[in-house]
Amino acid sequence: MNTLKEIAKMLLKAQNEKILLFPHVNMDGDALGSSAALCSVLQKLGKTAYILTEDDTAYNIEFLDRGYCVRVDETTVGTPDVCICMDCGSTDRFAARAEVFENGAVSVCIDHHITSKPIFDMNYIDGSAAATGEIVYDLIKELENASGRTLFDAEIGEAIFAAIATDTGNFQYSNTTEKSHLIAAALLKIGTDESGVCVKIYQNAKLSRIKLNAAAVDNMKLFADGRAAIATVTQDMIDACDAEMSEADGIAETMRNIRGVEISVLLKEYGRDEVKVSMRAKSYADVAKIAAGFGGGGHVRAAGCTLRMKISEAEKIMTEAVSEALQKEMQ
Ligand code: AMP
Ligand code: MN
Ligand code: MN
Repeated sequence: MNTLKEIAKMLLKAQNEKILLFPHVNMDGDALGSSAALCSVLQKLGKTAYILTEDDTAYNIEFLDRGYCVRVDETTVGTPDVCICMDCGSTDRFAARAEVFENGAVSVCIDHHITSKPIFDMNYIDGSAAATGEIVYDLIKELENASGRTLFDAEIGEAIFAAIATDTGNFQYSNTTEKSHLIAAALLKIGTDESGVCVKIYQNAKLSRIKLNAAAVDNMKLFADGRAAIATVTQDMIDACDAEMSEADGIAETMRNIRGVEISVLLKEYGRDEVKVSMRAKSYADVAKIAAGFGGGGHVRAAGCTLRMKISEAEKIMTEAVSEALQKEMQ
């Protein structure tokens, strides 16, 4: 593991002109917010920096992309000087961009997932950080110290606030710390429009999103004596609601809101044999452990994995795995 000071020093080196950021696929507010904040700062420092992506950005977080994102299929990247893995710990989390990442002269990981290992040239993985955005906040401070320049501004504040707000469920989840609040306070001080960010992210739903939520809740099943809930979002449902898969974000949280439910599971059908599983836990279960059993990962109370099988089979397997995990908790 490295210190943020070491990473800041490396980023400032004159020969490091081209820096690419690699957030995980299906970017959430933290992946995009932390990447946008760092990208903006690197550009201020005179670097050629951008965020390399491979899929569409969810519409409710698109405002964070102020021209930073470039699609891997729309650009010839050349050889980057530095490649940074953001909010994830493995190139498996951005498979269509893995080759470009490997071409980087220096590889870096900036992440807060407990399941990530320090496998790159430089690594800063802090499982106690509520969001990668908190780590980027500290990194920007180090870049300010090392460069002697003021780098924070209200736009960077918006990106970091979005990162922390989304990963903490608006400062509700157990990963929220004193530091999360202190950073939010510091961002307010520099003029960040925090409530404006929340309106853009949470009070901006298309009707299709609400319909998709309703359809998923409609097929939801409770099991394990009401301690778990599972629902599916199929391609047929996406078509029927005229929605996109990113609009399924939040359904797992809705199911967890149910009284007595400890674990919620949402199965998203990306293809006939590709099911993305999102799990959430309320107060005691370890869903990162369950996800890791299927080659995925994440945090103790929010984790995921991808299953290469039909959605009906995935439902059976996840129902069994979650029942078993809850059973063990009871012993
Ligand atoms: P999601 O359900 O997609 O919102 O993901 C919940 C958490 O688990 C996030 O922190 C993700 O980065 C992580 N996660 C989701 N899917 C995977 C996966 N296949 N491998 C590793 N981590 C994952
Ligand atoms: Mn994320
Ligand atoms: Mn995160």
